[in-house]
Amino acid sequence: MEADAKLIDIHTHLEQYAAKELEAVLNHAHDADVGWIVTSGMDLVTSTRAFEIAYKHEQVLASVGIHPWVTADVRLSKPDLDLEELRTLSHSREVVAIGEIGLDFIDNVSTGVSYHDNSLLQETQEQAFRKLVELACESKLPMIIHARGAYPAIISILQEQKAHRVGGVIHNFDGDEKQAHELLDMGFYLSFGGSITYPGAHTLHEICRKIPLTGILTETDSPYMPLYQQSTEKNEPANVVQVVKVIAELKKTEQERIKEIIHSNFRALFTVPQVEERIP
Ligand SMILES: [Zn+2]
Repeated sequence: MEADAKLIDIHTHLEQYAAKELEAVLNHAHDADVGWIVTSGMDLVTSTRAFEIAYKHEQVLASVGIHPWVTADVRLSKPDLDLEELRTLSHSREVVAIGEIGLDFIDNVSTGVSYHDNSLLQETQEQAFRKLVELACESKLPMIIHARGAYPAIISILQEQKAHRVGGVIHNFDGDEKQAHELLDMGFYLSFGGSITYPGAHTLHEICRKIPLTGILTETDSPYMPLYQQSTEKNEPANVVQVVKVIAELKKTEQERIKEIIHSNFRALFTVPQVEERIP
């Protein structure tokens, strides 16, 4: 077990912060003992920004991908999905995963797009997801997966594409117990964030109690996904400490031990070659 285990935030969107704000947010994370933050792109522009932020800040790593809301947007839809550009970005040492990719069949209240009853949009997302899973397998990089209302389709595509070869993590896992086990059996990790901090999140609490700690990762989805009674204006990576606190209570295990196991899960999933020099 690592002696230097620090907190891990495997999923954020740091490009949403203005430069000055980002400095403050990263300082808060450092003070809260967050060792590593992965920031994810949602399209080519934000994927490039994710890489740039990781290049500039030693505690940040990047993932590049196309979010299902973008792949389903027929106004933007590009048949080539910027795959070549993403592939080029994925060769940088700062890029440790392909993501945020996945499927979202729950209606988007902010854009007003309805997915649950639109088989064309679902099909468009699935086709893109298959190509992005293929990119991850070819690049030998794990995936950071967004799965909302689409667990059966996600699981069957991952099985079909033999995605266990590279593995990955389901960010903000909110499936049921059976789906949790199917994903863990395939070698995927389940990541918990703000949702688990809500006292009413009974199903999630039950799943967290039952699954092995060796399958768990932590995140904030900063600046999104507010925590229960969040003290900061936006959700920041420093808040991952609250997520660990709740997992420790559910698992009846000391926080320090949870931190160590999650740190070692992180190191097992992501290849961070120069980790020693890059620890902040
Ligand atoms: Zn996200």
